[in-house]
Amino acid sequence: MPDLEGPVGVQDLVLLEPLDEESLLKNLQLRYENKEIYTYIGNVVVSVNPYQQLPIYGPEFIAKYQDYTFYELNPHIYALANVAYQSLKNRDQDQCILITGESGAGKTEASKLVMSYVAAVCGKGEQVNSVKEQLLQSNPVLEAFGNAKTIRNDNSSRFGKYMDIEFDFRGSPLGGVITNYLLEKSRVVKQLKGERNFHIFYQLLTGADAQLLKALKLEKDASGYTYLNGEVSRVDGIDDASNFRAMQSAMTVIGFSDDEIQQVLEVTALVLKLGNVELMDEFQANGIPASGIRDEKTVREIGEMMGLNSEELERALCSRTMETAKEKVVTVLNVTQAQYARDALAKNVYSRLFNWIVNRINESIKVCTGEKRKVMGVLDIYGFEILEDNSFEQFVINYCNEKLQQVFIELTLKEEQEEYKKEGIPWTKVDYFDNGIICNLIEHNQRGILAMLDEECLRPGVVSDSTFLAKLNNLFSKHSHYESKVTQNAKHQYDHTMGLSCFRISHYAGKVTYNVASFIDKNNDLLFRDLSQTMWKARHPLLRSLFPEGNPKEASLKRPPTAGTQFKNSVSVLMKNLYSKNPNYIRCIKPNDNKQRGQFSSELVAIQVRYLGLLENVRVRRAGYAFRQVYKPFLERYRLLSRNTWPHWNGGDREGVEKVLESLNVSSEELAYGKTKIFIKSPKTLFHLEEQRRLR
Ligand code: ATP
Ligand code: MG
Repeated sequence: MPDLEGPVGVQDLVLLEPLDEESLLKNLQLRYENKEIYTYIGNVVVSVNPYQQLPIYGPEFIAKYQDYTFYELNPHIYALANVAYQSLKNRDQDQCILITGESGAGKTEASKLVMSYVAAVCGKGEQVNSVKEQLLQSNPVLEAFGNAKTIRNDNSSRFGKYMDIEFDFRGSPLGGVITNYLLEKSRVVKQLKGERNFHIFYQLLTGADAQLLKALKLEKDASGYTYLNGEVSRVDGIDDASNFRAMQSAMTVIGFSDDEIQQVLEVTALVLKLGNVELMDEFQANGIPASGIRDEKTVREIGEMMGLNSEELERALCSRTMETAKEKVVTVLNVTQAQYARDALAKNVYSRLFNWIVNRINESIKVCTGEKRKVMGVLDIYGFEILEDNSFEQFVINYCNEKLQQVFIELTLKEEQEEYKKEGIPWTKVDYFDNGIICNLIEHNQRGILAMLDEECLRPGVVSDSTFLAKLNNLFSKHSHYESKVTQNAKHQYDHTMGLSCFRISHYAGKVTYNVASFIDKNNDLLFRDLSQTMWKARHPLLRSLFPEGNPKEASLKRPPTAGTQFKNSVSVLMKNLYSKNPNYIRCIKPNDNKQRGQFSSELVAIQVRYLGLLENVRVRRAGYAFRQVYKPFLERYRLLSRNTWPHWNGGDREGVEKVLESLNVSSEELAYGKTKIFIKSPKTLFHLEEQRRLR
């Protein structure tokens, strides 16, 4: 067993003395600089992105962590994966692994480490191996379509992902289910400077052979496509062409047919070409501005690929039909409106394609047997976000993190409580900040911010982002976690950091100011009916299947749920799912903004430590007893400290531990003897033991 307090700080932050933000940061930094990127808080793993390949992974390490119990080796994700898998297998406890942290912190890498660990230890045989392969190969496919280079991360996941892996009673994998959250579809049509579109577009252009490019009516050069920024098409360290081959073969392994793969690529190519549909001003005979297509060739090609005649497509892009109960009125769109329609179509086709791919993977990895299953869920989801300009996306992401924090606190407390009960030790209540009030502010069915937004989106008459804000100001003027210019003015608080079109929420992790611009639009997420109806008429089978609502027989005047409501519903399903499982946490931290190895910026890490609620985590964890250990290994380690137990001891483990602690005069208030474990209240006591041991 390694030293608890050796040259690389404490391995478990629960043992930190004194406990404050500064000491916590120092400890992480010390460890990071010694290439110890993992540190525990009890059974939580804190992981600091090393930005280099460390020699601590692979079969040899997997074998090592399989054979030892949690505290016997250096902290590692493998240790956590091992505990989770063993409890699932031997104690029949469903598990979930929650991985959080900001962009670039290492969540996706961590989730892959968990998956590869579990795959390596969970059963053998041809059938089992093929299931494992399918599960693992879902990663390159989802990453091709859902990841992109951003300023923060060259391989940033632009969607949230939750994957249930299902096992039989022996612990062999049977299959799984993937749920995806909120793909950042705006990226399809626009990227920030220095960022790229989704990987697949570049993979396709560089990886496809001449024949495939011709079939897809694509040119090899990325700079010819409006939707591909042009400025960065290559990224150091990313080999698009070889990733393209890997993605294709992954699809085959999962079970996509050649025809399905072809159709997926066709739809991808379509999206890319849509960006090149140039619109220009036209005027109707009566002088009203309209729009037209500048380059007929592109539209013709797209029409051919979709299986539509190009006039139909053009009509759908440049006009809009308003339907009332009595009549249909066709209005022409001006250039701005037509561009909006074109981009909305591209975004919709792409995000629906992504959903289709996830569903298709699920079809392949679905478990068909009726037998009872054990489940391990892995959640890789965006962390708390505060950008310079925070919009609807940040609002829902932060809401999700607020909910995850709630699960975290409740489940950690519950777990502590259960362990005490199991060990027969009295439970003392722990004070903690209950963020239920913030969750409620956002999600309350009738009076929450999301409900208000929906109400505004559905209300007839003139609605705008500012009428929405006025509504919030009215309703939450006295809410302790809500402010805006209006509520501040009413209290004579003058704050020039607050814009007129903003509201601010005090989240558990800090205050975030949201700008309401586009909230209504983003929540509505409407595609003009002309476009969905036209897509449904396409002869391209996959494309057509993406727009079921375009079928006139299916068309109802009832609108689909708003983006906010859909997100809220999926978060609620996720929460139910998580509450039914035993949680394991990986908290990821990004040490610097430069993707550099060895650099540790305390300021940057401090913010993340706050967002991740790590101090609160340590506090809750050691509210009762900071340290606990099964009697036998404890006795083994410290028996040399007492003449009663050293060099000979023939009694039981628990009595042995009692003898050791008695002879060191440890106060009985510091200790509790559980059924299988010794509990120690303060880290100081443990350090005292360690000190004595060193002196021997
Ligand atoms: P996002 O929210 O943007 O998806 P993320 O938290 O999923 O970010 P990752 O993609 O997992 O971040 O990690 C970013 C990069 O950091 C990786 O591409 C890799 O280069 C490096 N990295 C992360 N974890 C490790 C690790 N354990 N070992 C080596 N490199 C790592
Ligand atoms: Mg990621």
